Amino acid sequence: MKKTILVTGGLGYIGSHTVIELIENGYEVVIVDSLVNSKLEVLNRLETITGVRPTFYEYDVRDEEGMEKIFSNHDIFAVIHFAGLKSVGESVQKPQLYYDNNIGSTEVLLKKMKEHGVHNIVFSSSATVYGQPERMPLYETDPIGNVTNPYAETKVKIEEMLEEISKNDPEFNPVILRYFNPIGAHKSGLIGEDPNGIPNNLMPYITQVAVGKLPMLSVFGNDYPTPDGTCIRDYIHVVDLAHGHLLALKKLEEKPGRVIYNLGTGVGTSVLELINAFMEANHVNIPYKIVGRRPGDLPQSYANADKAFREMGFKTKYTIVDSCRDSWNWQKKNPKGFDK
Ligand code: NAD
Ligand code: UDP
Repeated sequence: MKKTILVTGGLGYIGSHTVIELIENGYEVVIVDSLVNSKLEVLNRLETITGVRPTFYEYDVRDEEGMEKIFSNHDIFAVIHFAGLKSVGESVQKPQLYYDNNIGSTEVLLKKMKEHGVHNIVFSSSATVYGQPERMPLYETDPIGNVTNPYAETKVKIEEMLEEISKNDPEFNPVILRYFNPIGAHKSGLIGEDPNGIPNNLMPYITQVAVGKLPMLSVFGNDYPTPDGTCIRDYIHVVDLAHGHLLALKKLEEKPGRVIYNLGTGVGTSVLELINAFMEANHVNIPYKIVGRRPGDLPQSYANADKAFREMGFKTKYTIVDSCRDSWNWQKKNPKGFDK
């Protein structure tokens, strides 16, 4: 019989790509999403890509009654918990919103899991939990928690909640995945990253400049202690990241208790390198100017992803050039995102 996976936030950027991997690998998928940062149209696209329309509930994960219905209606093997707000800047403006939404939803989810005897969860954490690290690359054993914004605080807090429960409940298996910087899109160009308003992140900004929606990219600082002076990140193709969740589910079948994995490529790419790769891969020009630093930016952030390879066989398949091509394919086919 097919195993059922509850995917919170399954209509979002990473969630939707993961849903495809799950369906294509024989899982039954149930999605809960409040649509606070996604569109219902994603469900149609998922059906077009996979031939299967996943069961969908439009609830906020904080809605206990709604979540009770889901847990009563389905025999859930594991939850993949993507649901959460993710804008660092917005979290500084509205910290309470982030605590309520991200931590509040996880509290309700964990309560329902306990009541219904569901022990397996994969949680979307982030490289941001490492705060202001002293050295690169980042290892799972590096200290976490010295963070400077409410978004990062919610990720640290949720990791702690999961640790606390697993200390008291040997049956409980949380797989914590610390993502680095997802970019790219499904090769069909039917789904991809569709931020509201002006993008905060580099790749969607680049694609919106490429498509003519925005006039010019601002590069935030070229005076960092890096080879070309611009910041370095570990960009990972979203389909590789999605595949990591499949491996995490396999890990859960071994009942591993609490485990933590970095999901990155292990390779750093600077802002200028990414812009150049995009221009070369797609033969489009990206006008940009160098401006001042963005407050709070780390000069470098990249993973040591050996543990995920050793223990789950996680290996990335796609290059930066693949990611640039796929991000552009998505944006070009959907200049207004999911708004058609
Ligand atoms: P996203 O905003 O595209 O997807 C999140 C989804 O969750 C959206 O569809 C949104 O509508 C939904 N959602 C938010 N709060 C909800 C709630 N209370 N109840 C129900 N649904 C809710 O974001 P994403 O890029 O796909 O990120 C997914 C997860 O991965 C997030 O937890 C994010 O913090 C984490 N993460 C993302 C990145 C990144 O760069 N994209 C990096 C590290 C970690
Ligand atoms: N960046 C930039 N211009 C933009 C957006 C981002 O120069 O319009 C830079 C940013 O300063 C950082 C890198 O691109 O060095 C990646 O930024 P993003 O917000 O995508 O990821 P994060 O910094 O959260 O890892």
